[in-house]
Amino acid sequence: MRQPGLISAEWDSPLFHQTQTQLDRAAKLISLDENIFQRLRYPQRVLMTSVPFRMDDQRVVVLPGYRVQHNNALGPFKGGIRYHPGVSLGEVSGLAMMMTWKCALMGLPLGGAKGGIRCDPSQMSRNELQRMTRRYTSEIINFIGPDKDIPAPDMGTNEQVMAWLMDTFSQNHGYAIPSVVTGKPIVIGGSLGRVEATGRGVVYTVMEAAKKLKMKLTSKTRVAVQGFGNVGSHAAGKMARIGCRIVAVSNHSGGTFNEKGLSVDDLTAHHQAKKPLSEYKKGEAITNEELLATECDILILAAIDGVVTAPIARQLKCRIMAEGANGPTTVEGDAVLEKRDDIFVIPDILANAGGVTVSYFEWVQGLQNLFWSAKEINQKLQQLMADAFARVDETSRKRKVSMRQAALITGIERVTQAMLNRGFFP
Ligand code: NAD
Repeated sequence: MRQPGLISAEWDSPLFHQTQTQLDRAAKLISLDENIFQRLRYPQRVLMTSVPFRMDDQRVVVLPGYRVQHNNALGPFKGGIRYHPGVSLGEVSGLAMMMTWKCALMGLPLGGAKGGIRCDPSQMSRNELQRMTRRYTSEIINFIGPDKDIPAPDMGTNEQVMAWLMDTFSQNHGYAIPSVVTGKPIVIGGSLGRVEATGRGVVYTVMEAAKKLKMKLTSKTRVAVQGFGNVGSHAAGKMARIGCRIVAVSNHSGGTFNEKGLSVDDLTAHHQAKKPLSEYKKGEAITNEELLATECDILILAAIDGVVTAPIARQLKCRIMAEGANGPTTVEGDAVLEKRDDIFVIPDILANAGGVTVSYFEWVQGLQNLFWSAKEINQKLQQLMADAFARVDETSRKRKVSMRQAALITGIERVTQAMLNRGFFP
């Protein structure tokens, strides 16, 4: 029987199309069981909610909120919460699907989810953000929990937002339940190393790629980083600490370039003073397009999805491209990159998996109320990232497919095995 597919305008976003196309292609390569394939093309469950909250001027605004649970064959759902004007059901669904592959690829006992609110957090006060977060949490409260679905930070959210979420959930249950979220402040059960984990993980995969390509990482290694938020700033900081030269950095306001190298600490102070990166005195102002086309050895993408389109992919001048962001390369951009054997791509579900890996550590520590040292966490993280890199590299060589295809195949095959073992209900 031909299946009609669950098409509706809400799903129809570029990121959902991108992730579905990636699944479709990987499924063909591995001749994926048709029943499993149809199930994986859409989330298991989506929750759409309108989130009303009071602004500081007493107006009540109502914004669309989402929590999408893609697959929990391997364990409880896990995925970030995004506050951004571009959030839609399609975007969140695409990101939830990516989380399923990412957790599976890393060997974590977790499924994939994602959530978000369509809003502009940069235009909101702390109190407004708090009221919005608490109401959103109340709307999704029956769908989350330490054994059900565990949110974490993503674009536009941080450990403070996670603390409000944890508190709202706990107040409703009558006792503290820290393990309902990860990426929370350390004092309420957060993990050491979680804040910088995604950026750090990106660098660990870059180190593995450099080893594979017999490339030395020295002060001559030029690094360009798009995005200077959580992922970008920590990835840039760690690249600088291992001795590489950061030549360009950008964010939504533009970027800065200095062939001789930029100080990440100095840039962080400039950024914290809420000054645009393009006004940084010790660099030359550049646009985001110029940053992507910067001549460099390592390009780290740590901003948003859809930035590497086909024309941009043709202009890239890096040796290694590490996708710290989720979905930064479009389907068309990827087709160009697959033909360019001068660029080694570390795909998103591998490169940025450090975040969910330390989130997993945080969840485990919380459940047993026993906390590990930063050294232990970073060592475990580096080991898991190196192991995952090796698995993907091996699949890529054996099957003669790109690193992206190999990462997807590795994740999809694990989820498939779990689904076949568990069987079909009812
Ligand atoms: P963030 O909000 O802390 O930072 C985002 C950065 O991107 C900011 O510097 C912002 O100015 C910049 N940016 C936004 N729009 C841009 C544009 N149009 N052009 C250039 N720069 C732009 O978010 P984050 O947590 O660092 O997340 C960044 C990416 O990494 C997202 O794709 C996110 O899904 C992904 N990611 C984050 C984590 C995590 O643990 N935070 C984990 C895995 C993946």
